[in-house]
Amino acid sequence: MSLTTNLPAVTANAAHFALASLERALGDHFFLCTQNVDSLHEQAGSRRIVHMHGCLMQTRCSRPGCRSKPFNDERLYLKRAEIPTCPQCGALLRPQVCWFGEVPYSMELILEQLRFCTVLLTVGTSGLVEPAASFVRIARMHDARTIYVGPEEPANRTFFDTVVLGKAGEVLPKVVRELTEII
Ligand SMILES: [Zn+2]
Repeated sequence: MSLTTNLPAVTANAAHFALASLERALGDHFFLCTQNVDSLHEQAGSRRIVHMHGCLMQTRCSRPGCRSKPFNDERLYLKRAEIPTCPQCGALLRPQVCWFGEVPYSMELILEQLRFCTVLLTVGTSGLVEPAASFVRIARMHDARTIYVGPEEPANRTFFDTVVLGKAGEVLPKVVRELTEII
């Protein structure tokens, strides 16, 4: 469900495919947490993935506690009158995305993964926005090796063991190849 705009026609890039290949190499030892609300990681082949900010192509009931489940929905609603209501409780439906001020999805699972991971690979985030900005600090506190890949130094640079500057689509495939060799 999208309330404001049509999504641009975008496709997975080399960074998405690199992460999917890392998952194939690591199997159950791999976990991907993304802030993206698109489905490009899935298109590239990622399966062990959580969208902490939700999925724009899914719709759910707006009433907290309603038992209806989110469902895939690529329709575009331009007017409030066009927005359908929940078949179970009659409340308005809404996109399955995290709006400003809302708690991100799957935080319990993400925090557990951060406590147990041995390598944390962070791609392209600013290091400014919480809670994601604290993920590296948590992983490092639990002795993980921490790597950042992105176009510019993140605000939380001090918590990374290794920083690789560059566009993810250009440098991530090489970083993933090196990681796959040492893991
Ligand atoms: Zn409902």
